[in-house]
Amino acid sequence: MQMARPGNTRAQFNNLLSSRWFILICALMLMLISGVVAGNVHLTIAQLEQDKKVFDSQNLRSGVVSVVDVQRLLLIMQEALTIGEMTPALHADLRAASDMLYVRADSFYAPRQADASFPSPERVAGSMLRIVDAMDVDAQAGYPDLEASWTNLLGLAEQSRRDLVDHLDRVQRYQADLLDMQLMAVTEKRNVVWAALAGLMLFAISALVLLRSEILATKARQQAEARIRHLAFHDPLTGLPNRAQFQEHLSTCLDGGQSVTLMILDVDEFKLINDTYGHSAGDTILIHISNVLQEVASAYDCFVARLGGDEYALIVPQVRLPDATEICDLVMAQVRVGIVIEGEVINPQTSVGIATSTQIGASLHLDAEALSRAADFALYTAKSAGRGRYTVYDEALEVKFLARRKMVEELPGAIANGEMEIFLQPKLRLETSEIYGFEALVRWRRDGVLVPPDEFIATAEESGQIIDLDRSVLRRSCRMVADFNSTHGTAFSISVNFSALQFNAKRFCGVVQDVLADTGLPAHLLIIEVTETAEFGDLEQAKPIISALQSLGVRIAIDDFGVGFSSLSYLRNTFADEVKFDRSLVKDIEHSSSSRFLLDSMIEIAHQLSLEVTIEGVETDSQLQIIAPMGAMNGQGYHWCKPLPAEDALQLAITQPFLPDAEKTPGKNIA
Ligand code: C2E
Ligand code: CA
Ligand code: CA
Repeated sequence: MQMARPGNTRAQFNNLLSSRWFILICALMLMLISGVVAGNVHLTIAQLEQDKKVFDSQNLRSGVVSVVDVQRLLLIMQEALTIGEMTPALHADLRAASDMLYVRADSFYAPRQADASFPSPERVAGSMLRIVDAMDVDAQAGYPDLEASWTNLLGLAEQSRRDLVDHLDRVQRYQADLLDMQLMAVTEKRNVVWAALAGLMLFAISALVLLRSEILATKARQQAEARIRHLAFHDPLTGLPNRAQFQEHLSTCLDGGQSVTLMILDVDEFKLINDTYGHSAGDTILIHISNVLQEVASAYDCFVARLGGDEYALIVPQVRLPDATEICDLVMAQVRVGIVIEGEVINPQTSVGIATSTQIGASLHLDAEALSRAADFALYTAKSAGRGRYTVYDEALEVKFLARRKMVEELPGAIANGEMEIFLQPKLRLETSEIYGFEALVRWRRDGVLVPPDEFIATAEESGQIIDLDRSVLRRSCRMVADFNSTHGTAFSISVNFSALQFNAKRFCGVVQDVLADTGLPAHLLIIEVTETAEFGDLEQAKPIISALQSLGVRIAIDDFGVGFSSLSYLRNTFADEVKFDRSLVKDIEHSSSSRFLLDSMIEIAHQLSLEVTIEGVETDSQLQIIAPMGAMNGQGYHWCKPLPAEDALQLAITQPFLPDAEKTPGKNIA
């Protein structure tokens, strides 16, 4: 499963943000356009109102008022006619009314409209001015004939009224046309505004829909991300944090300088439980363990995780080991409390590895990986020590373990690349001090340093690499001695050490037979030394192989007799030809009579069983003096010679340096 990348989330967030900006801009635009449109409409209306006012006052009003003014002149003239004379008061009124009409007529000459269709004012003004002129003429004449003046005025007034009515009618029609046109213009403007608003609304709605779907998608994405995050950091079976979260948590603790104790817990024989009761039973146990761990974790404020399979981790936020081991005991005990599966009670057993950050911090670079590795190693130790227990990390043990592992890794290469060197240690007849053969002892030239066999033989045995090693030593030492014998006419024997494991390996006899055939070494000059060990304990299994080897003519020696598992009764049952008494039997003979007695008795028994006896580890002349009368046949030890590089040992042997001078005849020991 892939985790949501933070980059993606940021991009989505940016998208959302940008779409918010988009909406904001839309809203602002909407407001701006609405404002502009509203302002424009408002201006248009104001302009219309103003125009109407001006138009009314300039055209309609003066038209209507002019009718009234003409009417007033008629009324004054009528009154004068009724009275029969033009009184000064009436004359003044007539004069004022006439002046007013004059002014009114003038107002028709200031047309605002440039439009050609606008009714021409000249006619109206002309007929009004004709009234004014007639009034002026009558006034100057002093109204000689009121009747005539009246008739004249009536005619002129009638004409003026007709012109005015006509004018007003045309003005009104013009105004109606204008109104229609303006209405059309406003309607058009309104339509445009509506269309713009509808467009904007549509735009805003689609933006809102977009934003909504974006928000929904983001929400869905966030939910999916959260789900993925949960899956990425939790174990689906138990719901516990998984390895990834564990590592993160541990790193955070350590980076923050917090001291912690890490426990790694592993179920013993979990595979067996799975195989026996099925996987769902296995799951039940895993959940049971997770429940126990969660309870303990919440009681002690620890962090718990399932690392995978049947492995769990508990991080205790302190390093007091007694407390930690107490927690560990509690967990192990709680887990062991049986759970019933298919009517059967199962008591799961666990092993735990414990490591503290202070332990690691003291020597190695402290990080989550180092601490986990230490706890893992402690767990491995607990498992190797027999399971069902906890082990606290021990650095010295790990160093040894790592050295051994490195050795296991390097051994095959070392064997194949000839890094194993064969040293030979002479074996002597005690009676004559004659070198009659050698024991092949291997050394490993590792990075220029000669490593003694004690440091790698056990490892080679544990890893099974001893089989190849022994066979290589067998082949090479047999070839060296066979070649040397045939070159120098000697008959030195060669004793080769063999791990008891060889007796379980296939074709062991065949290998020995091949080597003898290939090197030409006579079979009786090859002695195979085997140390009696637990593996070799099953004599019954080894017997046919030993007999087969003996039937080839090869001799068998029991090595290191007197230590470990060896017993005198064993000697009785063995088919060996030779027994090599360990140097521990020789070590104290100079000072301890019981040691002397023991060695003497054992040699005696070996003789009675017709076994050839070799005493190993003879270091001093006084030891030799004590051993000599005991009747042992052969000796080997630093007293004569340490193991030497093969060539040196062979060269030394040919000189027979330990023989009395008189007897030094090279090639004496030819078979
Ligand atoms: P081992 O078979 O008992 O070999 C004799 C060991 O005693 C040799 O140690 C030798 O150097 C040492 N030794 C001999 N004389 C004296 C003495 O006077 N005093 C003391 N203190 N030690 C003496 P080395 O060579 O270190 O070998 C140790 C063991 O390694 C051998 O014990 C043998 O068990 C094993 N080994 C050596 N080579 C091989 C091999 O090729 N295959 C196998 N399987 N084991 C080998
Ligand atoms: Ca040996
Ligand atoms: Ca030995």
